[in-house]
Amino acid sequence: MGTARSKRLFRKARGLIPGGVNSPVRAFSAVGGEPIFASRARGAKVYDVDGNSYVDYLCSWGPLIAGHGHPQVMASVRKALAEGSSFGLSTAIEVEMAQLVTDAFPSVEMVRFVSSGTEATMSALRLARAATGREVLVKFSGCYHGHADSFLSAAGSGLATFGIPQCAGVPSSLARSTLTLPYNDVSTFERAMLTVGRKVAAVIVEPVAGNMGVVPGTLKFLRALRQACNRYGALLIFDEVITGFRLCFGGAQNMLGIAPDITCLGKIVGGGFPVGAYGGKARLMKELAPQGPVYQAGTLSGNPVAMAAGVATLRLLKRKSRYAELEKKTAELVRGIRERAREAGVDVVINTVGSMFTVFFRSGEVRCYEEAKESDTAAYARFFSKLKERSVLFPPSQFETCFLSLAHTKRDISATVDAAGSAFRFVSGPGS
Ligand SMILES: *Cc1c(COP(=O)(O)O)cnc(C)c1O
Repeated sequence: MGTARSKRLFRKARGLIPGGVNSPVRAFSAVGGEPIFASRARGAKVYDVDGNSYVDYLCSWGPLIAGHGHPQVMASVRKALAEGSSFGLSTAIEVEMAQLVTDAFPSVEMVRFVSSGTEATMSALRLARAATGREVLVKFSGCYHGHADSFLSAAGSGLATFGIPQCAGVPSSLARSTLTLPYNDVSTFERAMLTVGRKVAAVIVEPVAGNMGVVPGTLKFLRALRQACNRYGALLIFDEVITGFRLCFGGAQNMLGIAPDITCLGKIVGGGFPVGAYGGKARLMKELAPQGPVYQAGTLSGNPVAMAAGVATLRLLKRKSRYAELEKKTAELVRGIRERAREAGVDVVINTVGSMFTVFFRSGEVRCYEEAKESDTAAYARFFSKLKERSVLFPPSQFETCFLSLAHTKRDISATVDAAGSAFRFVSGPGS
C-alpha cells in the first residue's frame, strides 16, 4: 500500500493550510496522523492519490447516502450546471426543494436554505432568541452543532476528538449564556430548568447523537425536553443535520413522534454539495427578514447546483424500501463485526440506529458523552489503522459514526467483516 504522494502532499499542505487540512478531523491525528488525500470516488469506494481504494464508511461524513457519484444525482447536477452556476436570484428548484422538505417534516411549514449545517444552527439560535426575547441556550455534552461561537463548549465531533473542552476565542459572555448538561440525563435537565427555565431561549439537541459516536437519545429524555420547553416557554431545536433523511424520509422526529419548534438540516439535503436548512412553523419563520426583524442571508444560499444534488438525492430516497434496504445491510454488518470482536476476545459496544453505527472500545453501555469518553481510543486507533491497511475506511476518531450508503454491496460488507476480524486480532494481540 503506497502512501508517498499523500505524504508529500501533506508535508506541503502543512506549510500552506493550518494543520494541512480545512477541517480538523481530516488530519487523522487521533489515529496516527497520516491523512488520506482522495482523488476520486464511485459508489461505496473512495480512491486516494497513491492509487489505494477503500470501502468508505465516511460517505463524506454523512451526505452521500446514495453513494459517491450516483448517476441520477450527477445527471441532475450536470443539467443544472449547464444552465449556470449561480444567479443570486430565486430559482424554481429552491421551491421544489422547500416543498420536498416541508412535506417530509410535519413540524416544518416553512424552511430557509443556507450553505452549511453551522449556518443552520447558528441562525436557528438567533431566531429562537429573537422569538423568545431571551438569551440562554441549553445544550448537551457530546452533541455537536457546528462551529458557531455559542455551540463550542463541551461539544462533540472534532472538539471531542482533540479534547478541546472550551474553544479559544469564544467571548466569555457567550459561554456564560450557554448551559451544557449531560445527554440522556432527565433529572439533571429538569433540575436545571427549574432554576433557569424562564431565561432559556432554546434547548438544542441531536435526537440521535452522531458526534460522540452514535448515542441514541432515549424517548424519556427527548419527551422531557419537549415538556419542559412547553412549560417554560423555550423553543426546542432538533439538530437533524445528520439524522435528517438518514433514518427515514424525514427526521428522527418522525420516528419518535416528537415535534420540535425548529429543525436544522444539512449533509444529506445537499447530496454532497454545501447546503443547510432550518425550518419550523410559519408563524415563527415569518420573523426572518424580509418579513420580520431577524436578519439572515447568503450570497450562495439555495445555490441551484447544490439544490439539484439535494433534490435528486431526496427523490431517490423517497421510495420507502430504500431505508429498509439500508437498515438490513447495516444490521448484517454490525452482526458480523460483533461476532468477530467476540471471537477475538475484544470488548466492544456497538451502538447502531438505521444506517449509522459506532464501534466503541469499552465494555459497558454508552448512553452519554461521559461514557463514550471512557472508550479506549488507542485501541480504536489500532483498529482503524488495521482496517485501513485492509482497504476499509472508518472515521478517523472514536467519536464519530460510520455511515452506510445505498451503494454498499454484500461483497463490501463481507470484506469489511473479514477486515474487522483481523483488526480485532491485531488489537488484542501481543504488544498491544
Ligand atoms: C455536521 C454537523 C453540523 C455542522 O454542519 P456543517 O455543514 O459541518 O457546518 C451541525 N450539527 C450536526 C448534528 C452535525 O453533524
